[in-house]
Amino acid sequence: MSTLKYTPVDEIPQIRATLKQSFRAGKARPLEWRRQQLYQVARMAKENEEAFMAALHSDLGKPRMETWLGEIGGLIERTLKTAESLEEWAKPEHPEVTDWQKPWRPTIYKTPKGVVLIIAPWNYPMILSMQPLIGAISAGCPAVIKPSEVAPAYAALIAELIPKYLDPTAYAVVNGGVAETTKLLELQWDHIFYTGNGRVGRIVASAAAKHLTPVTLELGGKSPVIIDAECDIDIAAKRLLNGKATNSGQICVCPDYVLIPAHRQDALIAALKVHYAAFFPEGPLNSSSYGRVVNAMHHKRLMDMLSRTNGTIVLGGKTDGKLGLEPTVVKDVREGDSLLEEEIFGPILPIVPVKDMDEAINYVRARDHPLVIYAFTQNPELKERLIAETLSGNIVFNDTFQQLAVNEIPFGGMGESGYGLQIMKFSFDGFTHMRSSVDVPYDCENPFRYPPYTEETRKM
Ligand code: NAD
Repeated sequence: MSTLKYTPVDEIPQIRATLKQSFRAGKARPLEWRRQQLYQVARMAKENEEAFMAALHSDLGKPRMETWLGEIGGLIERTLKTAESLEEWAKPEHPEVTDWQKPWRPTIYKTPKGVVLIIAPWNYPMILSMQPLIGAISAGCPAVIKPSEVAPAYAALIAELIPKYLDPTAYAVVNGGVAETTKLLELQWDHIFYTGNGRVGRIVASAAAKHLTPVTLELGGKSPVIIDAECDIDIAAKRLLNGKATNSGQICVCPDYVLIPAHRQDALIAALKVHYAAFFPEGPLNSSSYGRVVNAMHHKRLMDMLSRTNGTIVLGGKTDGKLGLEPTVVKDVREGDSLLEEEIFGPILPIVPVKDMDEAINYVRARDHPLVIYAFTQNPELKERLIAETLSGNIVFNDTFQQLAVNEIPFGGMGESGYGLQIMKFSFDGFTHMRSSVDVPYDCENPFRYPPYTEETRKM
């Protein structure tokens, strides 16, 4: 596996200048060219499947199935569907207008914004760097991709493959850490697409503001799970545990904590234990179906959080002394606990007992808007209340993270969980300027618009 070489900082302005030149020359604009580049992304993913599997295993211990479902397979599917949809998305729109404006032929042209910067995180390094890239390609925008240095095997692999598969005058990888990203952020871009934490999100948004650059911020936060006392607790436990154990809880839409009526807490724990044993009969730390924490810094952060909780560990809690940490369930967690301070982003699940659904809703409303609210309930009134009384990027009933499987709905946060949308058509739109136009015929005249203004012309 190749080692990660950082891009020399003094080469970064020239990389952007090359892309800018391609954009000005109109290179990335023809639909046929965009489609061919998209097919090349799909080909790159397919032909190098084993190399991607190995890189993501090296970076995160990702099981093959998780890499296929969450990274390679999803990317290929979305890339091919994007290529098939290009004509439809990119064609000019002619909105319905009032009769007297019809001769003006009002039109919305789908114009590429320009040269864009994509800054990606480490937890799903492939899909979270390539998904915005296919959005940029589909919209006709050259792009620099800055993968996360925290997933170095993937970052090195993509730097090797992108120039082999894509036009290097339109798409480039810049590798590095804070110094390289800071240099990138000093330059002018026509859109910045950032995925990661809110602290860096603020740095990105401030840097973009200097150039009035539009930004998409895909951030994280504490996504709650509300469990209704009447719901099927067995299904809730199974899907909840799956959401928490996948990628060792390192998913932006990972269920962060559970709010459940106190009298149902033990039933949930009993059901979690059944599914835990079924998912990992040999124990999670010995299982090829369970990954690990990304690095020692994050492992220590999680262990510190766990050591300070006042709740009771009822499931898991062991580490392999390296980077593995069992899916860990903690009961009777109360406000002010270490597990409720910031996004966990790891395999720890605190359960917060509440009196009823009113208390659960008030708890969520009193906090930052999360990326997603999960609710396990069959009660239509409760669903309506949650839709009407809470705010979040997405709201999902009776499952965890399956919203990511639907290509036709937008994905994005609000407030502390970010702004802007992505996935398929929403990614295309994010990198596209809706350029409006009218073409007024010589013989369409409104005499009242011209001075001198008189009362007679005003009444015309
Ligand atoms: P990270 O540490 O890899 O950082 C993300 C990117 O920011 C990297 O490319 C990194 O090089 C760059 N960066 C780091 N420090 C910087 C600085 N000082 N200046 C400029 N750039 C800098 O990833 P992370 O932030 O730890 O990712 C985890 C977070 O991302 C979690 O909060 C998670 O919820 C969120 N996330 C959100 C989504 C989403 O789609 N909404 C998806 C995945 C992760």
